[in-house]
Amino acid sequence: MKIHEYQAKAILRKYGVKTPAGEVAQTPEEAAAISKRLLDEGASLPHVVKSQVLVGGRGKAGGIKLANSPDEVREVAGRILGMDIKGEIVGEVLIEQGIDIQREIYLGIILDRSRKKPVIMASAAGGVEIEQVAADTPEKILFVAVEPWIGLADFQIREIAAFIEIPKSGAKDFAAIMRGLYKAFTESDCSLAEINPLVITGDGAVITADAKMNFDDNAVGRHPAIAALRDDAAEDPLERKARELHLNYVKLDGQIGCIVNGAGLAMGTMDIVKHFGGEPANFLDIGGGAKAEQVAEALKLIVADPKVNTIFFNIFGGIVRCDLVAEGILSAIKSLPDWNTPIVIRLSGTNEEAAREMLKGTDLISAATMSEGARKAVEISKRAA
Ligand code: GDP
Ligand code: MN
Repeated sequence: MKIHEYQAKAILRKYGVKTPAGEVAQTPEEAAAISKRLLDEGASLPHVVKSQVLVGGRGKAGGIKLANSPDEVREVAGRILGMDIKGEIVGEVLIEQGIDIQREIYLGIILDRSRKKPVIMASAAGGVEIEQVAADTPEKILFVAVEPWIGLADFQIREIAAFIEIPKSGAKDFAAIMRGLYKAFTESDCSLAEINPLVITGDGAVITADAKMNFDDNAVGRHPAIAALRDDAAEDPLERKARELHLNYVKLDGQIGCIVNGAGLAMGTMDIVKHFGGEPANFLDIGGGAKAEQVAEALKLIVADPKVNTIFFNIFGGIVRCDLVAEGILSAIKSLPDWNTPIVIRLSGTNEEAAREMLKGTDLISAATMSEGARKAVEISKRAA
């Protein structure tokens, strides 16, 4: 789960991480009022207006602008609110005191599954995407693994500070930021906590300009305050619908909608579709039951994606009986009268003969094996494209 920059900053602030003064607004009027208040409280101009969306690269997309007066903040906020940034509509802007940027640093913590430890990444090449730095100049990134039972040690903080050349004047603030970021990361069950950029200002201070926190979805349940920050509007609408229906669904970019029972088989289905030269439109595990309503909901969900031109059912009848699934599919299609997307079905396992019998004489294309089904689905999808 992801949260917005202003929410991540609010959490980090509680851990003693230095961030600029600021507040979030939903209208240009509110934005101007915040800017006035910041001025009254002594925050100098310019102020910065930052779109709050969950995708990265807002700066490049025009979603971050400086303004030199509350009136200009109003005008700039008016332009940024409602903007479409990589498919996400801006509903809120963060108004902050602008920072006098001298240097931009990257500072992040991830959970490294292979090392089974949190790993801190730091680079003096901040501001840009760290993936780019890692690809072009990996030597510019320092990786420091933290032993979870010992915690972040002072010598490690000094090692990081030296690598990214934190000036003496900012050493204390940097240590507090590093400790706070690490504590926030572990205590909130983050999969990622990132400050990019961490800024060295003209007068040698260190401050957080941008913050990002992603949480382990399996742990969000034990942090109700964090769970409450979920932004439904920023979630892919199909993925949201799937979550509401308790379907395990991940949207992908291809044309072949896959409906499968079992997560492992769903992964295998995507692989075999790719193997035959097709592109899966999704990962979908409808679970063990595969009742008619569930199948109908899954079908509706998948064809709501306009790219989908073929459906591939891959069902293994282990606990579930194939004839029941076939019945589910047939009644689901009956409940969708203007259905016209071709469907390939591979049903294998308990009562498969009975299921195949039921599908005879329908428009559904049946396949005896998984590879035959995948091959047919790819052929049909290519013809339709
Ligand atoms: P991102 O593009 O979504 O990662 O958003 P960031 O918050 O990282 O901002 C992108 C860039 O805006 C930063 O790297 C800075 O170079 C630039 N920027 C310029 N002035 C300011 C300022 O006063 N505050 C902040 N936060 N960023 C600024
Ligand atoms: Mn950033």
